[in-house]
Amino acid sequence: MLLEEVRNTIRQVPNFPKEGIQFLDITTGVKNPEAFKEMIDYLYEQFKDKKIDYVAGIESRGFVFGAPLALRLGAGFVMIRKPNKLPAETISETYELEYGTDTIHMHKDAIEEGSNVVVIDDLLATGGTACAACNLIKKAGGKVEAAAFIIELTPLKGAQKIKEKSGVETISMLKYDLD
Ligand code: AMP
Repeated sequence: MLLEEVRNTIRQVPNFPKEGIQFLDITTGVKNPEAFKEMIDYLYEQFKDKKIDYVAGIESRGFVFGAPLALRLGAGFVMIRKPNKLPAETISETYELEYGTDTIHMHKDAIEEGSNVVVIDDLLATGGTACAACNLIKKAGGKVEAAAFIIELTPLKGAQKIKEKSGVETISMLKYDLD
């Protein structure tokens, strides 16, 4: 399947979850077995030679791509979750939203000091979420090999923000000129 065909499997929903947001819906991509395979193959190709210890998926759509990638890489899978979801002791990072703040958590013992970790989410917008995830991995003593996404909304400059604030490189499969 060509990259453009994969792109065509992603549905665009205007004004969700609120007025003015063009929501890029990966549910129509992952229900197509060929498109889903292309997405996981793409991510696997980026990291197959990088000696990845853990893939850290960001709740919840990051789990959809992160878990199969971890299996392919022979790496462990780590969950980065919203508050009050993880049962054992956690570490957390709070980050700014357009209005207010949000917090993500990871189990304190999720990774070992020096682990090489890939952070995965479905979509890179402003980069706030992924930046916080990279900082969590570093706080736990890990090294972030890269943050990778299926979709990047390039005008929002999330990649630049992650590079500047966390020193982490980003990789994205499908770039959209949308903000
Ligand atoms: P950000 O922190 O601004 O990079 O936002 C990234 C997070 O918000 C990801 O977990 C995405 O799933 C979600 N997100 C932000 N904007 C969109 C969008 N236009 N369509 C779908 N998901 C989005």
